[in-house]
Amino acid sequence: MNHEPQDDPAQEPGTPSHFISEAIREDLKAGKNDGRVITRFPPEPNGYLHIGHAKSICLNFGLAEEFHGRCHLRFDDTNPAKEEVEYIDSIKEDVRWLGFDWGEHLYYASDYFERLCDYAVALIRAGKAYVCSLTAVQMREYRGTLTEPGKDSPYRDRSIEENLDLFGRMKAGEFEDGAHVLRAKIDMSSGNLNMRDPAMFRILKTQHHRTGNAWCIYPMYDFAHGVSDSIEGITHSICTLEFEDHRPLYDWFLDALQVSCHPRQIEFARLNLTYTVMSKRKLLKLVEEGRVSGWDDPRMPTISGLRRRGYTPSSIRNFCERIGVAKRNSTVDVALLEHSIREELNRSAPRFMAVLQPLKVVLLNYPGDQEEELDAVNNPEDPGMGTRKVPFSKVLYIEKEDFMEDPPKQFFRLAPGREVRLRYAYYITCVKAVKDERTGEVTELHCTYDPLTRGGDAPDGRKVKATLHWVSAGHAVSSEIRLYDHLFTKPNPGDEKECPDFSACINPGSLVVLKDCRIEPGISAAPKDGRFQFERQGYFYADPVDSCSERPVFNRIVSLKDTYAKVRKKG
Ligand code: ATP
Ligand code: MG
Repeated sequence: MNHEPQDDPAQEPGTPSHFISEAIREDLKAGKNDGRVITRFPPEPNGYLHIGHAKSICLNFGLAEEFHGRCHLRFDDTNPAKEEVEYIDSIKEDVRWLGFDWGEHLYYASDYFERLCDYAVALIRAGKAYVCSLTAVQMREYRGTLTEPGKDSPYRDRSIEENLDLFGRMKAGEFEDGAHVLRAKIDMSSGNLNMRDPAMFRILKTQHHRTGNAWCIYPMYDFAHGVSDSIEGITHSICTLEFEDHRPLYDWFLDALQVSCHPRQIEFARLNLTYTVMSKRKLLKLVEEGRVSGWDDPRMPTISGLRRRGYTPSSIRNFCERIGVAKRNSTVDVALLEHSIREELNRSAPRFMAVLQPLKVVLLNYPGDQEEELDAVNNPEDPGMGTRKVPFSKVLYIEKEDFMEDPPKQFFRLAPGREVRLRYAYYITCVKAVKDERTGEVTELHCTYDPLTRGGDAPDGRKVKATLHWVSAGHAVSSEIRLYDHLFTKPNPGDEKECPDFSACINPGSLVVLKDCRIEPGISAAPKDGRFQFERQGYFYADPVDSCSERPVFNRIVSLKDTYAKVRKKG
């Protein structure tokens, strides 16, 4: 597992060095591209962005920044059957939210369709492309396999004139879908399947979200992608490892077209995370089958899901920096992502007390008409964040699980006859557990408090073994709290062997909704977009969709338990 930070102490902070930045540095040293560095982030608008894309975004925009170049946002929108405007809008929002700016350099491959056609015609004229009329099934047969060479299509030697004529008529809409395909004429016996006369243009009588019905032929990804890079003057075309086998084709197209700009393709390992699927096809399935509430469900690894959950852009950028950029595929422990936000919020998030599953406590010796305000520290990590007042009164709530009627040895929290500390308040002692006669469930505790322990310390120096959080019943804000766990029960749900049917590996406990939570009243005045630590419970964020001022809804971003720190200590 690759979760060691790949820091190079020799580097300035914020500019991690890796093989791609080294390659660019060499190119600059060799005087290539007139000293320019232009990268791009090229999503297909067929789904929402996920944390894997964030790695690519941080890498591409990060390199542009490091080398004082620029990074384009280009939609590789060549497959109208799977694309939607909703995806384009969400992608733009997510890249911006992550903190990156493409300035005026927003592009669409669909804006290049006419030029791609011209390039195709140029290849036909050069005898390097032909119209093939094999059916899809035949084409697959002719293609061969990894161990067997392919066979030349019987249409491979069509004359240039015939090819020009047929391609023109394909474009004019004279043929049905699948009747013909424009193919590059490369080598049907190549050991690389991508080089066996790959398709360049296909007939598809489908409306496109940007070009409408203007086109009935659409370029294939491999052809459109490289040519689009070249049109935009990209210097370094950075992509994930599965495109390594496509690089010869990328180079072939640009060489055959003799274009003036021939970007250098460099591949890096995609990000995989434990307990997470990252394929857009699978994420779409989760959404379509209603297994999650949408692309922005806080359990989704999408940028919009992480945002709704409460992750900050900086925590995601830090995570991407930590995992580094490598040439070999690996799976990163999702605990490292959680560690990144926990570490940030530990420093920045103000503390509050919130009781998730309330148990009523009545202080028998506290005057019924009395109320007081106690001082609480906003963030023990940062004294500069100051203190606040927390109201205290006769009737309080504590956490149900902080009381046991008949506690085992290791349980040090409240029990009949036992004394504990209420954080920032007093020592209390439980004198009686009141029960529901029918169910036997404890519904209320009767306790006494020691007025001499105000602030949480006993002047006689007597110790207690537990400190509990609490809220004053009459002052607390009612709210709903949602606790999240991994969406999948298996560490590698994307692995067909480990998880043949990935929907069957969904964690039924991935969402727990608590409807009767009580939070100390100061939360009402806190900024809506803030992140908070609810003491002993974790870090929380008001759900931007379902929360309202009458009834706040909080998402738990992460609990306080840092499994990543534990892994590191052991290692
Ligand atoms: P999927 O295969 O799930 O459909 P994709 O890779 O086709 O995803 P694109 O929209 O083409 O999705 O991705 C845009 C860019 O993001 C590409 O350059 C791609 O290499 C990169 N990318 C996608 N997934 C990851 C990942 N898990 N880690 C790093 N980069 C990624
Ligand atoms: Mg892709």
